[in-house]
Amino acid sequence: MRYELHKMPHQEIFFNQEIETTSQDELISRQNEKLKEKVRYVFENNAYMRDLYTKAGVDVNDFRGIEDMDKLPVIAKANFRETYPLGLCCVPKDDIREMHMSSGSTGTPVVMPYTDADLEQWAECMARCLRMSGAQPGDPMQIMPSFGLFNGGFGMYHGARKAGLFVIPTGSGNTERQIRLARDFNTKVFGAVISYTSRLIEVLDKMNIELPSLKIGIFGAETVTEAMTEKVSNRLGIEVFNIYGMTETGGVGTLGMDCQDRSGIHVWEDHYYLEVVDPVTREQLPDGEVGELIVTSLTRQALPVIRFKTGDLTRILSREKCACGRTHLKIDRISGRTDDMLIVRGVNFFPSQVEQALLEIPGVHSDYQIIMEERHGVNDVHILVEAEEGVTGFTVEKHLKQRLGFSPHGDVLPIGTLPRVDGKAVRVIYKKLD
Ligand SMILES: [Zn+2]
Repeated sequence: MRYELHKMPHQEIFFNQEIETTSQDELISRQNEKLKEKVRYVFENNAYMRDLYTKAGVDVNDFRGIEDMDKLPVIAKANFRETYPLGLCCVPKDDIREMHMSSGSTGTPVVMPYTDADLEQWAECMARCLRMSGAQPGDPMQIMPSFGLFNGGFGMYHGARKAGLFVIPTGSGNTERQIRLARDFNTKVFGAVISYTSRLIEVLDKMNIELPSLKIGIFGAETVTEAMTEKVSNRLGIEVFNIYGMTETGGVGTLGMDCQDRSGIHVWEDHYYLEVVDPVTREQLPDGEVGELIVTSLTRQALPVIRFKTGDLTRILSREKCACGRTHLKIDRISGRTDDMLIVRGVNFFPSQVEQALLEIPGVHSDYQIIMEERHGVNDVHILVEAEEGVTGFTVEKHLKQRLGFSPHGDVLPIGTLPRVDGKAVRVIYKKLD
C-alpha cells in the first residue's frame, strides 16, 4: 500500500492553543491553586524542605499562594549541593525515570531527577517552544547539544518527538558531518549553544556549502546578545530564538522562549511562577525593573523547586496579550548574573549600581574603578573616579553612602588618569593586604 503523505492544511503555530492563549486571570487562579498544592507537597514529601520550612516558621496549612510567597525561604544551588545526590527529591527512587546534572564551577553537581510525568511536562514545554518557532510536524530537526548528563540534547529530543518533528540526533561535535547531514536531510530546524555557531559558520565557509533549507535556530544555555543574534541570523539566513530553562527548573525549554513577535521571552505560566526581586534586599520588584529571577515549579513531581534563586538578572516586560496570541507573560533576555555581586561589610551591591550612583553626581565622569581591599578577612572598598575640579572625595563618599548603604573611600582623580582599555573595562580590582 502506498503511504499517503500527511499534509498539514495550514501552519500550526500553537502546540497547546487553549492553555497558551488562556486569560491572565485564569493563569493566576491556576497558579494560586498549584502553589498551595506544591508547598504542601514538598513539606509532606521531603524531609529537608520540611525542616527548612519549620525553621522559617512557615505553616503550610496557612499558606495562601501568591500573596504569601515572600514568607517562604528561597532555595539556591547551594541547597542542591548540600543534599547531593537526591536529598531534594520528593518521590521514591523507583519512580525516577531519568536524571540530568550540571556540575558548575564548584565541583559538587546539581542533580535533577524526572518521573514519567516530569518527562511529559518537559516535552510539552519544549514542544510549545518548537511550534512557537514555526517548526511543523515532519520538519527535520538537528539536535547539536550533547546527549548526556547535560540537559540540552535530551530536552530538545523529548520536545521534538512530542511536536512530531523528524529528529536527527547528531549531538555535539564533528562539524563537517553536521553540515553534510544538514545538507543531505534538508535540516530545517537546529538546536545548539550559540557559541557553537561560530564554528559552524567557519566550517561552512571552508567547505563552501550553503544550507538553504535551514530556517530556524534555537539557542539555549548561554546568554545570547542582540549583536550575536544578528550575526548568526544574517550569515545563516535563519530566525534565531532564545530558549530558556535550566537544570533546576527541569532543563532546556521548560521556562519558555521568545516568539516570532520578538518582544520578549514568554514564560509558561501554567507550569512556573516567577518573581523578580531586588538581589540585595530580596524585596519584590514591580514589572519593568531589573532584578534576580526567582522561579517556582508548579507542576513538577520528582523535584519541584519552590522559590529557586536563579542568579539570572532580568525584568518582566509585559503581561498583556502578545501579538502572537499568547497570554503568558514576557521577560527580557537575561542581562547578567548575580554572581557579579560584591559584598562589603555585609552590604551587597553590583558594579552597575556604583556606576549609576556615580553618574548622578554633577561633574563626575564615566571612568571609575572599584578597588576591593581585603585586610585580615575584612573588605574595604575604594572608589576611584575621574571628575572635574570642585568634586571632592567627600561628595562621592556621601552620595554613595546614601545610595548604596555603605561607606566607601572616594578618591577623585583628574580626567584622563585612569588607564584606558580597548576591550571590556576592568571595573573591579581585588587587593589582599595581609
Ligand atoms: Zn508572543
